[in-house]
Amino acid sequence: MKLILLGAPGAGKGTVAKLLTKMDGSVQISTGDILRGAVAAGTELGKQAEAAMKAGDLVSDDLIMGIMKDRLQEDDCKNGYLLDGFPRTIPQAEALKKLLADMGEELDFVVNIDVPRDVILDRLTTRRTCEDCGAIYNVKSNPTKVEGVCDACGGKVVQRDDETEEAISNRLDVYNEKTAPLADFYEKEGMLLTVSATSSDAVIDAIKEKLGK
Ligand code: ADP
Ligand code: ZN
Repeated sequence: MKLILLGAPGAGKGTVAKLLTKMDGSVQISTGDILRGAVAAGTELGKQAEAAMKAGDLVSDDLIMGIMKDRLQEDDCKNGYLLDGFPRTIPQAEALKKLLADMGEELDFVVNIDVPRDVILDRLTTRRTCEDCGAIYNVKSNPTKVEGVCDACGGKVVQRDDETEEAISNRLDVYNEKTAPLADFYEKEGMLLTVSATSSDAVIDAIKEKLGK
């Protein structure tokens, strides 16, 4: 399957993407994970992205399109992909449309995961992420077996730099201003499936139904 997962930070895009990869070998492509990897590795890309990320602002469209153009040509995309955290602006959505047309590819549809703001805030402040494999935990609802250690890979599980209260509030504002308009964009393209659900299983069920599976 080839899907875009839209939704505010903390809506569950990453969790849903990981569950979907188990269904048919589609890969999760998270621009946030790619950027965090680049920052951790200290690459040129990481250096360019770091300050914006830390403040909860968006990285430039050019930088993101450069990454995605290469990523979508990789072999593992043949079985399908779940775009998690991309596109994030109207220019990115337009550039993606052109890129896919050039590649002769079509998406199945765009899933808009719609979760109330109070749930989002609660989730983001209690969320923890594995530095190595990107696995997501929650200190209240889904803690690691051993504190600070990833169940999946043994990596270090931490609170992200951009998950301070100030950065979270900025990320939600940026989302409302720059990314929320994408729902209209894809609605007009006839590609939007909005799911109002706080459980990832309910989101998965709605996606399966739409895919006819
Ligand atoms: P979230 O949990 O907010 O969805 P992500 O892991 O997707 O977070 O992204 C973390 C940060 O990486 C964003 O706040 C932003 O700075 C940067 N980023 C990720 N994807 C994009 C994108 N498509 N366009 C611009 N910036 C991005
Ligand atoms: Zn891990």
